[in-house]
Amino acid sequence: MQRIVYVNGEWLPESEAKVSVFDRGFLFADAVYEVTAVIGGKLIDYAGHAARLKRSLGELGIASPVDADQLLDIHRQIVARNNLGEGLIYLQISRGPADRDFTFPKNPAPTIVLFTQPKAVLANPKVETGISVVTLPDQRWARRDIKTVQLLYPSMAKMEAMRQNADDAWLVEDGFITEASSANAHIVTAEGKLITRSLTSAILHGITRASVLDLARGAGVPVEERAFTLEEARQAAEAFITSASSFVMPVTRIDGEPVGNGKPGPVTQRLRASYIENRLAGAI
Ligand code: PLP
Repeated sequence: MQRIVYVNGEWLPESEAKVSVFDRGFLFADAVYEVTAVIGGKLIDYAGHAARLKRSLGELGIASPVDADQLLDIHRQIVARNNLGEGLIYLQISRGPADRDFTFPKNPAPTIVLFTQPKAVLANPKVETGISVVTLPDQRWARRDIKTVQLLYPSMAKMEAMRQNADDAWLVEDGFITEASSANAHIVTAEGKLITRSLTSAILHGITRASVLDLARGAGVPVEERAFTLEEARQAAEAFITSASSFVMPVTRIDGEPVGNGKPGPVTQRLRASYIENRLAGAI
């Protein structure tokens, strides 16, 4: 079954969906993206993703080819046209095609593409065991707050993690954890305090992170937004990652050593349950 893909105003079978070889997304990674989870045919945390998309486009001076109402309509239509019950919607907007030149084109025509990826987001077997991570140097560019498609280093980090028989990488800069290859990183201290890196250009401002912090504060979990060291992560009682594709996922091993007792921790499990309950109720 071919998926139906959205490309610049058209709905096309995936084999017919094409963009130009001159597209600046292809030649310069001059493009931003969003990934939104779908459960029960509904969009999870959509408002946050739409707001971050607007910010990413603004930071790069790319004009959105669609307005807010059109964007929501396209998301809803792509779910319906692909009969997507559970999975992810991938959206990318690039500056569009232009003669290859380092300067931005004068009259760009941005390219917009959306496609669906069916996936069992909720029933992830790793939730029971947690994932293992290895730490690697963070060698990405310095504007990680913009969700660009420059994903080569995260991809290399993930490959290196797998080569070391781990599930993912936690990236380290100046002794501090920045984030995972494609998720935000968090720890819980023995006293039950949630520590997570504050929002700067060092990390992506995760939509799931923001929702989980709100829920944690609402449930009386003390939250400290600051950079934490690799050593603190090793000493933590619990660790977890957050992202639109994994929600809240326990991290139970760091560099081969167990985190706490090596099992998913109670704070992590409560936050996962609370995120799912709350966000399913608010899904649109
Ligand atoms: N950090 C990075 C580097 C990511 O790539 C992602 C998601 O793709 C996240 C964090 C999590 O962000 P969100 O919760 O908005 O999916």
